[in-house]
Amino acid sequence: MSALLLDGKALAAKTEQELSTRVEALKKASGGQTPILATILVGEDPASATYVRMKGNACERIGMQSVKVEMPTETTTEQLLAKIDELNTNPNVHGILLQHPVPEQIDERACFDAIALEKDVDGVTCLGFGRMSMGEQAYGCATPKGIMRLLEAYNIELSGKHAVVVGRSPILGKPMAMMMLGANATVTICHSRTQNLQAHIKQADIVIGAVGRPEFIKAEWIKDGAVVVDAGYHPGGVGDIELAPLVDRVAAYTPVPGGVGPMTINTLIYQTVDSGEKAIGGA
Ligand code: NAP
Repeated sequence: MSALLLDGKALAAKTEQELSTRVEALKKASGGQTPILATILVGEDPASATYVRMKGNACERIGMQSVKVEMPTETTTEQLLAKIDELNTNPNVHGILLQHPVPEQIDERACFDAIALEKDVDGVTCLGFGRMSMGEQAYGCATPKGIMRLLEAYNIELSGKHAVVVGRSPILGKPMAMMMLGANATVTICHSRTQNLQAHIKQADIVIGAVGRPEFIKAEWIKDGAVVVDAGYHPGGVGDIELAPLVDRVAAYTPVPGGVGPMTINTLIYQTVDSGEKAIGGA
């Protein structure tokens, strides 16, 4: 069996074309306004700086603007909250991305939760998570929502399937599990205290690796015909799942790189365009 490659890079590129058209239409209808994403980078972590730059570049590619806010490493929670408040009340900002992680003296949860729901295009607020979990309107957390969009684009059936999510972080594992539940999958969430991890994974029709350890999930733990989603990315182009031995015996898999990664940024800009359309009135 040759597995279906869930090509996030290709889907992101195709979606960017559609988003460019929508941004162009919005510009025409509104006398030149475009959706605007504000990105906030606190400190000088090079990986975070790269992610923020990539997000700004994605905005540019679809003809949308981004506003870059850079704050020093010693920024306090109060200073960051004040900046978020300013962006919340700025009618020209339609989405706010606070790059994770922030320096340790900052109360990250308080800052995430200060983002106005309608501008929470990265899906990081507790309110947005709660609403999404209840099936109410909210922007999804970008990485898991990107995974859902990718699975949907390839018509991967989720209803009634057993999804095993390995990882329970606020930005990935937890929202992933709730999105899978919302799509009528039967969901198991595994984490560092899970006993018999391999036995759980062995039962999965859909495995989602969100552990943060290179090739931690071994190919032999995964059953034939499963759908394999690897959210991890590590130096050397490996993910959280040992993918190479799987490609001949699973139903579908996300490559690393080129699977989940491009869908994360794509979802962020997709949701910002949605927000911009709502605010500017082109929807
Ligand atoms: P994280 O916050 O470090 O969370 C890791 C999760 O894995 C935790 O829930 C942890 O359990 C669990 N875990 C750790 N060791 C385990 C073990 N031995 N057995 C079972 N579970 C274990 O990481 P994250 O932010 O969710 O990221 C996960 C991965 O996704 C990373 O590789 C990251 O690079 C990647 N990622 C990719 C994107 C993208 O855009 N492609 C975006 C975000 C993250 P506990 O809760 O019990 O500690």
